[in-house]
Amino acid sequence: SIAETVDNEEDLEPRAPIVTVMGHVDHGKTSLLDYIREENVIAGESGGITQHIGAYGVQLDNGQKIAFLDTPGHEAFTAMRARGAQVTDIAIIVAAADDDIMPQTKEAISHAQAAGVPIVFAINKIDKPTANPDKIKEGLAQMNLLVEDWGGKIQSHDISAKFGTGVKELLEKVLLEAELLDLKANPDKPATGTVVEAYLDKGRGYVSTILVQAGTLRVGDYVLAGPRHGKVKAMQDERGNDVTEAGPSTPVSILGLDGAPQAGDKFNVFEDEREAKSIAAKRTQLQREQSVRTQKT
Ligand code: GDP
Repeated sequence: SIAETVDNEEDLEPRAPIVTVMGHVDHGKTSLLDYIREENVIAGESGGITQHIGAYGVQLDNGQKIAFLDTPGHEAFTAMRARGAQVTDIAIIVAAADDDIMPQTKEAISHAQAAGVPIVFAINKIDKPTANPDKIKEGLAQMNLLVEDWGGKIQSHDISAKFGTGVKELLEKVLLEAELLDLKANPDKPATGTVVEAYLDKGRGYVSTILVQAGTLRVGDYVLAGPRHGKVKAMQDERGNDVTEAGPSTPVSILGLDGAPQAGDKFNVFEDEREAKSIAAKRTQLQREQSVRTQKT
């Protein structure tokens, strides 16, 4: 049994928002994520984020932090949701100002709405001579989504992901939205969270990027992630620096699992290694049975 402890109000501390970037293909999701990754370095550290680990944390000049899921597109979002993982606090939906509201823009909006995740619109490519941000805002209004400068409550900001124009202000609006959500977690308990991605590295073995959502993960903890388990041998942040612990809303890649869990798998820390192993074995057995069943049908 995996006990989900109920936290006392006084044990909860503010945590950074976890943000996903969605939108129509070619509207600039990757460009925005890249710009943010390259421009926002943790205070006091030089150089940008060096590793692609599927998620990264940034700290703005004012000290506030945001964790980004660095997998553009709503496939990641829906894959995680399909596995019951609710990771995203806020969705940035990118819409190119030189284009219309496109099918995947609408899809992204419905995904966010279905998940009850607030949206901040990034009206992108405003550097282009053909850009017409008002056309996008009008299109949104027709969908009953009134952005602030059209008299509504939904945050939006005109940006150029290519040149970085407006990105800082966009992130400030994300933080404003986060404030309304009053995001909190208890850092003083065994870590729980969600797997973002995992792969086999020839030299290092299985590398899993996980997002700690509550509690604190430490090197040496025994982790169960989906059907995979193992003792955390090492942890690294998105800069490739070794870290010994990771608190709520922190993405880290971990070494030590016996295989690659799937994106959206939940993870827990176990005091009792045998219990983790026995649950892992049951889950593996269940997966085998399920795959046999799907092969038959
Ligand atoms: P994605 O498919 O949503 O991830 O879109 P990309 O980030 O790959 O961008 C698609 C294309 O649009 C690329 O050629 C980008 O260089 C370009 N692009 C993205 N953002 C901007 C922008 O703000 N201004 C201009 N002019 N081009 C952009």
